[in-house]
Amino acid sequence: MRPFLSRGLCLLLAVAFLAQPVYAAAKNAAKKTEARMAAAPSPAAARDAADRSDPDLEKEREIGRRALAQIEERWPLTSDPAATARLNMILDRLEPHMERRIPYEVRLVSTDVQNAFCLPGGYIFFTTGIMDLLKTDSELAAVMAHEMVHADRKHGLKMAAQSNKTTLAALAVVLLSGGALAPVILAQVAQVAITNAYSIELEAEADSRGLDALIASGYPPTAMVTLMEKFMDEELKQPIREYGIYMNHPDSRKRLQMALEKLHDLGIPVRRKHSLGLLRTGFRETKRRAELTVDGAVVWSGKRAPETRTALERARAVLDEDLQMELAPYDVHLVGGSLYIGNHLVGEPVKGMDSVEVFRQNLLKALDAARRKHPTAKYFQP
Ligand SMILES: [Zn+2]
Repeated sequence: MRPFLSRGLCLLLAVAFLAQPVYAAAKNAAKKTEARMAAAPSPAAARDAADRSDPDLEKEREIGRRALAQIEERWPLTSDPAATARLNMILDRLEPHMERRIPYEVRLVSTDVQNAFCLPGGYIFFTTGIMDLLKTDSELAAVMAHEMVHADRKHGLKMAAQSNKTTLAALAVVLLSGGALAPVILAQVAQVAITNAYSIELEAEADSRGLDALIASGYPPTAMVTLMEKFMDEELKQPIREYGIYMNHPDSRKRLQMALEKLHDLGIPVRRKHSLGLLRTGFRETKRRAELTVDGAVVWSGKRAPETRTALERARAVLDEDLQMELAPYDVHLVGGSLYIGNHLVGEPVKGMDSVEVFRQNLLKALDAARRKHPTAKYFQP
C-alpha cells in the first residue's frame, strides 16, 4: 500500500528495494530462514488452491512470486507470530468479499517505514512501521482491503502495461519469458506496488471497493475515515519537497472526502471511537468507592453501595452507545437536574454519589482528551 502515507516515505522504500546492496541479503540470510518459518503465511497451504476458472491468475501469481523473491532477499521478514496471526485473521475476514478467488498471503517486513502493499497475485506486505501507527484491527483491515483490491483488479499489471504501451497479455508473455526485458519490468511492477504509484482512478477504485469489503466483512466502516485522517496527519509532518514527483496522486484530504461522501450516501453514520479505540468505558470498585471511567479517567463515582452500582451500570450502557467523538458540546446537557446525551437519560442525582453536574464536566473533559488524540478530524462537520 502506502497508498496512503507520504510519497517521500514510499520513495525511500522503493529506493531501498531497488538499490540495497547484496551483502545485506547475505547478512540477513540466517535470520531470514528462521523468520520465514515464523512469518511466511501459514494459512497459504490450507487456503483453497487458485481458482482454475481464472486463467490469468496463475500467470499473475508467477509474476508476483518473482517480484516477491527479490523483495525477500533484501528485507528481513519479522518473526512476530502474534502480529502475523492478527494479519491473517483480518485477511480471512476480507477475502470472501473480493471479486476474484486469489489465494492471498500476508507477510510482515521489519522496518520503521510506514508502508503496506500488494504484489500481483495477492502477496501482501505490511511493515512493522505501519503496524505501530495503526492500533486497531479495523484500521489495519481498511489498509488491507485497499491493497487487496489492487491485486483483485490487476492494478499493478495494468500500470506496467500502460507505461510499456502494451496489453496485459503481451506483458505477461514478456515477464514470464525470462528475456532481457523481464527483470526491468519486474522491478517496475514491484516499484509501482511499493510506492503506490497507481493512477488516481485506480486509487479511487481501491478506496471505494476496499470500503465495500470493509462494510461487508463487518469491520466499522469509519476505519477508512480515521485512516485517511491519520495519513493526513502524517503528511503534515513531512517536508513538502518529498511530494514533488508524486504530484499526480490524490491527497489524503481528497480521499477522506470521498470516503465521507460514500458513507453519507450509504446512510452509515461516522463513528470514530471504535476504529480509534477511544472513549472506552470501564467500571472499578475500591474498598469504599465505585467508579465509572472513560479511557481510564473517572467520570462518575460514589460511595460503594448497590444504588451506586446500578446507576453506574446504567450510565455505562448509555455511554457505550451514545458517547461519540462527534457529539457537539450541547449534546451533553442537563434537563430538570438529570444528565442526557441527546434525548437519552445518562444519570440522575443519587445520594452518596458525585453530582450529575460534575459527571457532565468529566464527560466533556474525556471527550476533549479523546479528540486531542486524533486532532485531524473535523468532528462537527455535517
Ligand atoms: Zn493504493
